[in-house]
Amino acid sequence: MLSLQVSVCIICKAAIDIHSPDICVSCQNALATIPNPCPRCGLSLPQGVMAEKCGNCRTMNWRVERCVALCCYDRTVSLLVQKFKYAAGLTEGYHLSQLLARKITHAYHPTELPQAIIPVPLHWRRSIERGFNQSNEIARVLSHRLNITYAPRLAKRLRATSPQAQLNIQARRRNVKGAFVCRAPLPHKIAIVDDVVTTGSTISALANCLANGGAQHIHLWCLGRRDAV
Ligand SMILES: [Zn+2]
Ligand SMILES: [Zn+2]
Repeated sequence: MLSLQVSVCIICKAAIDIHSPDICVSCQNALATIPNPCPRCGLSLPQGVMAEKCGNCRTMNWRVERCVALCCYDRTVSLLVQKFKYAAGLTEGYHLSQLLARKITHAYHPTELPQAIIPVPLHWRRSIERGFNQSNEIARVLSHRLNITYAPRLAKRLRATSPQAQLNIQARRRNVKGAFVCRAPLPHKIAIVDDVVTTGSTISALANCLANGGAQHIHLWCLGRRDAV
């Protein structure tokens, strides 16, 4: 006997076919995309402005040359990411990562894809506290879906930095300066993977480290992107 197997959307809890992704189509469409994103850092450029980089990239000496963010970090995404990060909600992380993989596939010609994926490293002490590194989980899904080498050992966090959320922009930059070390030889083109990027100070410090280590092209892939509040 045939029976209809249903699952529920992890956002709206509507019943969906068990074979479809765990985020229903209307919730996928409702994830807020970033209007007119700067190609290098992913923040919104003013409406109608086409530019290779924004003022933020210039002032930060931003070494990332391309950014793909799944969506704007709004309340819906924030709740999913919080669950993923602090309650080990691996289902949420997995499905958001799948959507990010799809967006990257649409954004790149296959020959343009980076050769390696480096998740933003956590200090070992924080990894133990949390039980996992959320960026590793995202990077693994992307590596599998895009067929790119997962390379978490190419970069390491030397210091346990203070949580960035409590600091202003200047303090964030000081906090992460020199926090990373990378292992040469590095691939020519690398994608850094993170869950949520706000001021970009952590990414900038890691990108500087990778560029100094010989990476020529550094891209950034993340679930959520928003300006510092
Ligand atoms: Zn839904
Ligand atoms: Zn920018």
